[in-house]
Amino acid sequence: MLELGRRLGRRRASAAAVKRAANDRTMALVAADPELRAALFRLVDVAPACRGNEELRAHLAAYLEGIEDPGPLASFGSRAIDSRALGRASGGVAATMVRQMAKRFIVGETIVDAARPIERIWRDGATVTVDLLGEATVTEEEGRAYARRCDEALVELSRHAAGWADRPAVEADSIGPIPRVNLSVKVTALTPLVRAAAPERGRADAVGRLRELMRRAAGLGAHLHVDMESMDSREMILDLVLDLLAEPEFAAGPSLGLVLQAYLRDSEEMLERILARAAAAERSVPLTIRLVKGAYWDHETIEAAQHGWAPPVWTDKADSDRCFERLTRRLLDSYPLVRTAIASHNLRSVAYAAAYAEQIGLGPADFEIQVLRGLGDDLQEAVVEAGLRCRVYCPVGDMVSGMAYLVRRLLENTSNASFLASRASGSDLDALLGRP
Ligand SMILES: Cc1cc2nc3c(=O)[nH]c(=O)nc-3n(C[C@H](O)[C@H](O)[C@H](O)COP(=O)(O)OP(=O)(O)OC[C@H]3O[C@@H](n4cnc5c(N)ncnc54)[C@H](O)[C@@H]3O)c2cc1C
Repeated sequence: MLELGRRLGRRRASAAAVKRAANDRTMALVAADPELRAALFRLVDVAPACRGNEELRAHLAAYLEGIEDPGPLASFGSRAIDSRALGRASGGVAATMVRQMAKRFIVGETIVDAARPIERIWRDGATVTVDLLGEATVTEEEGRAYARRCDEALVELSRHAAGWADRPAVEADSIGPIPRVNLSVKVTALTPLVRAAAPERGRADAVGRLRELMRRAAGLGAHLHVDMESMDSREMILDLVLDLLAEPEFAAGPSLGLVLQAYLRDSEEMLERILARAAAAERSVPLTIRLVKGAYWDHETIEAAQHGWAPPVWTDKADSDRCFERLTRRLLDSYPLVRTAIASHNLRSVAYAAAYAEQIGLGPADFEIQVLRGLGDDLQEAVVEAGLRCRVYCPVGDMVSGMAYLVRRLLENTSNASFLASRASGSDLDALLGRP
């Protein structure tokens, strides 16, 4: 396991990898300065609403001036904005920075723009799942529009994918074919009515739209993956998907996936529930389960504290890591009832899964590793080099709709507990590969 982890973690030498490493070091420096970090997040938040570079510069200057005890980076930034020539340029620089950051994480503004980068990923030996970014769905019309966009994306992606070269390594496992087209969808974008207190309203509103998407995916031979969000919607999403899967019409397809979050204390019980339902459904296409740690840790802890509840998430990062490994074993042991996707940028978590799969006799195609575009690019190359299937989660959307996504990714990437932040700040790889 250690050897595989080291191999996956070897620094890449390409120009793009060097640029990414420099970018990551800058983010690590920013992360070390909480006030500067907050100022930049505010800038990213406000950027879409700015009418020009001058407005953006003024915001940046105000945020930096607002820092009470500026560190060296923040002081340098303030001085640069104050100097006349640099001041004029700084709005443009900030705009370019925000755009560059967004470009790193978002594969294109539309499916048509995204088609080329997606095909490049395919040519490089990996495959993708596409996520259509959108602002929070607050009206019925927005829910319908998102469903329409998903439907169009399935059709458009299928058209493009038909022209891709054959890649047997990523197109089948020992159960059978794996769809080329894979779309990740969010139930909270399908309906504005998701409320923890009244789950049946959200469900009633989303069920028809999700069923139509499943029909479309089945017709096209595509895979639909339902993302998991915060606890407010978890039970509703789980029941909705498992109930739909049990409908006789879907016994032979489409290929469908769910997400399991290891940071939840009850995730192991949740997995047993899912496995029992998957076994009872007797479908000919297995359910895919994407194992993640969970992206809403701050939200869950704050929400629980506000209500005086015990947090539903582990509060020690090592507990999430250990739970992730227990779930990894249980999932891989459950093949071929379910297909497993290990979604993580943590080399220990990924190497652990690959080593365990090998130990129990699974082939390299019998599970996959998933990474996020922009955060997992080095790992993507290493996973492909190691002969494993890698799927890249590719957000598609404009800069405005990408901002919430971008802020979430940056927050994760720079949080002290994060594997990527530890790595960017120079922590010893062998220590990071150790038992959690
Ligand atoms: C392809 C892909 C798809 C994804 N889809 C989803 C999705 O549908 N839903 C979703 O929720 N997330 C999703 N994620 C995000 C994922 O949940 C993680 O937030 C992210 O990948 C970071 O985890 P890691 O294993 O890469 O890194 P690591 O650095 O090993 O882990 C970071 C994670 O540890 C957990 N953590 C941090 N601090 C603590 C603490 N004090 N106590 C306990 N736990 C802590 C958090 O979950 C945090 O995100 C996805 C990630 C990928 C790569």
